[in-house]
Amino acid sequence: MNTQTKTDVVALLSELVGIDTTNPGGDEKAGLAVLERMFTDRGIAVEIEEYRAGNFNLTATVSFGDGPTVMLNSHIDVVPAGEGWSQDPFTPTLQNGRVYGRGAADAKGSLAAMTTALLSLLDEADTLSGTVVFTAVGDEEVGSTGARALVTKVNPDACIVGEPTNIRLLSAHKGSIRPVIEVVGRAAHAATPQNGENAITGASELLRMLRGLSDDLAGRDHPLTGGPTLTPVLVSGGQAPNAVPEKCRITLDRRLVPGEENAGALAEVETILADFNTQHAPIHASIVECAPSTGGPSQTDSQHPFVQSCQEAMEDVGENPELAGLVVNCDMTTFRAAGIPTLILGPGTLEVMHAKDEYVEVDQLHRAENAYRAILRRLLVARR
Ligand SMILES: [Zn+2]
Repeated sequence: MNTQTKTDVVALLSELVGIDTTNPGGDEKAGLAVLERMFTDRGIAVEIEEYRAGNFNLTATVSFGDGPTVMLNSHIDVVPAGEGWSQDPFTPTLQNGRVYGRGAADAKGSLAAMTTALLSLLDEADTLSGTVVFTAVGDEEVGSTGARALVTKVNPDACIVGEPTNIRLLSAHKGSIRPVIEVVGRAAHAATPQNGENAITGASELLRMLRGLSDDLAGRDHPLTGGPTLTPVLVSGGQAPNAVPEKCRITLDRRLVPGEENAGALAEVETILADFNTQHAPIHASIVECAPSTGGPSQTDSQHPFVQSCQEAMEDVGENPELAGLVVNCDMTTFRAAGIPTLILGPGTLEVMHAKDEYVEVDQLHRAENAYRAILRRLLVARR
């Protein structure tokens, strides 16, 4: 086995952050090429597939002989940097024990720590049994198309998704659905509003009624993710400054918790709309479409042997083994839909995700690397 110098997780992360993989518009392939080099330098074959124009998935398979197949997964794309950074978001800065830059936490820190953890295990290959499939996918932040393309090609026994979890094991996450409501009234000259039916006034009343549903949801709880939520996120309406508006559109963001289905969540909104339509006829409100969202909620059974092995591994390295949940969505939903037991674990905190001056603590990078390594040691044992 090649015994070249151990790769430093901070150096690898810095190199990854230095490549702009903004989704949309960034260069996913250039980011993946950094990871490709890490593996090919150690004699491991890598496949980079352009699964659709401009989006790429990387797969590196490391075999330690017969045994289970474990997938390590995260995403190479990052959200747009936005304004107000203290330094260039694509020039990695090491300061105060932190690496700053877009994607440092979400999710290049996970990719770097997974890579260095896996490569370090090459030095103890004779004690391990099984296969690790390391995958870095494109387009997680917008459409999850990379993960969806990936599950048609791989079928691991279990998967760890790298996202910033503050080094906690997450076994559940929320999902979302975004109904778009159109409120339709009747146009008239603004000088004679009594001749029209004002759709914006109607929408404001409807929002008040929907607030009641939000309050009801706040009373429900889920032990890992917290309760479901409903909040208006977009409003548009009216056609001219001198006309009573005929139409107003409201987009709602409804977060679902494991166990909830889209149909049930939409039915609750429909009930409100029916009440509204009865009380405010001839103004009429209906759901006209659902705006794109990243998918439904999911959960992995806490009693699954894979979950318990991961919890034991966390104890091995002095980390918190308790399971928790994620309030946002990630590619776990795609892997769970494919029947793959999945947990989420990675360095960095939720607070810095998608924000300016995103960072990850160097200490967390090392802790994540240790945790991934401990998990693989626990999982890569011969089948009895
Ligand atoms: Zn992410």
